[in-house]
Amino acid sequence: MDKPIKLYVVVPCYNEEAVLPETAKRMEELFESMCQSLLIDRGSRVVFVDDGSRDKTWNIIDSLTKKNDIFAGIRLAHNAGHQNAVLGGMMTVMNECDCAVSIDADLQDDINVIPRMAERFAEGYDVVFGVRNKRETDTWFKRTTAEGFYKVMRMLGVDLVFNHADFRLLSRRALAALSQYPERNMFLRGIVPTLGFRSTCEYYDRQERFAGESKYPLKKMLSFAFDGITSFSIRPIRFISGLGAAACIVAIVMAVYTIVCKIIGHTDSGWASLMLSLWFIGGVQLLSIGLIGEYIGKIYKEVKRRPRYIIEAYVNNRETKAEDDNT
Ligand code: UDP
Ligand code: MG
Repeated sequence: MDKPIKLYVVVPCYNEEAVLPETAKRMEELFESMCQSLLIDRGSRVVFVDDGSRDKTWNIIDSLTKKNDIFAGIRLAHNAGHQNAVLGGMMTVMNECDCAVSIDADLQDDINVIPRMAERFAEGYDVVFGVRNKRETDTWFKRTTAEGFYKVMRMLGVDLVFNHADFRLLSRRALAALSQYPERNMFLRGIVPTLGFRSTCEYYDRQERFAGESKYPLKKMLSFAFDGITSFSIRPIRFISGLGAAACIVAIVMAVYTIVCKIIGHTDSGWASLMLSLWFIGGVQLLSIGLIGEYIGKIYKEVKRRPRYIIEAYVNNRETKAEDDNT
C-alpha cells in the first residue's frame, strides 16, 4: 500500500446513550490498530452524527471529541431520520477524507470489517457493501419481514444488494456522485448501486444490538419499506392501471349483460351482479386514488426542496490533527 488512507467513519446516533461509550471504545481500539498497521492516516476520524436525540447522546459525543481527536461530532438540529443522518454526515465530511464508511451506532455490524473495506478501497474499489451472512440474531419476525422486503424490491425491479443495510464504504468520488442526487426521499440502499463505479461486497455476521432498543419499531419499518418501494418503482402504479383496465372490460361485459337482461325482461336477476360490480369498481377506484395520492405526495415533498437535514454544530479538532505525520 502506498499511502495510509484518510478514512472517516460516520455513525448515526439517535438516543444511543446506552451504546455510545462502548462503541467509542471499540472504535478507538480499532483506529489505533489500523493506524499502527499504516492502513489509515492519523487524520482519520470517527464522526458521530447526533440525529436530534433527546437523551445524553450529544453530551457523550461532545466529551469524546474533547478526549480524543479521532472523534468528531455533528449535531443535527432535529430528528431527520436514519437515512438523512447518514447522508448528512457523509456530505459534511466528503471533502476531508479519501473514503467514508457508514455504520450504525449499536455495534450490530461487525466493526472489524472496516479494515477489510479499507483494503478493498486501496485496491481500487469505490463502493464496498457490507453484507450480512445470516440473520440468526434478529427475531424471526424482523428476519422474515426484512428478507421479504428485499425480495419484493427485487420483484419490483429495484437493484438492491441482498442483505446489505447501511454499512458501506464510499470513496470520495462516489460521495461526490451521491451529492448530485437532489431527491428528498433518500433511500441510500437503492441509490448507491445506481451510482456505478467499481463495487464489491464484504461479508460478516450480524450481532445482536449491544444495548438500548431498536429505533425502528414496526411502524417506522413499514414506512421505510413503503418509501423505498414508491421512491424507486412505478410498477405498483402500472399494476393498478392494469387492474383498472381489466375492471373496465368487466364493466363493459356487465353492461352488455344487463342491457340484454333488460330487453329480455328479467331485470331483477341482474341486481346482485350489478351490486357486486359496483362495489368492485368502487374499491378499485379507491385503491387507485390512494396509490396515485402516494406519488403526488412524493412530488409534493420533492418540489418543496426542503433541506434534508440541518446541521447545528460540527466539532472536529482538525487544527490538532496529525497532518504533520504525512510530511
Ligand atoms: N437512527 C437515527 N435516526 C433515527 C433512527 C435511528 O440516526 O431516527 C440510527 C440509530 O441510532 C442507529 C441506526 O440509525 O445507529 C440504526 O437504527 P437501529 O439500530 O435502531 O435499527 P435496526 O438495527 O433495529 O434496524
Ligand atoms: Mg440496529
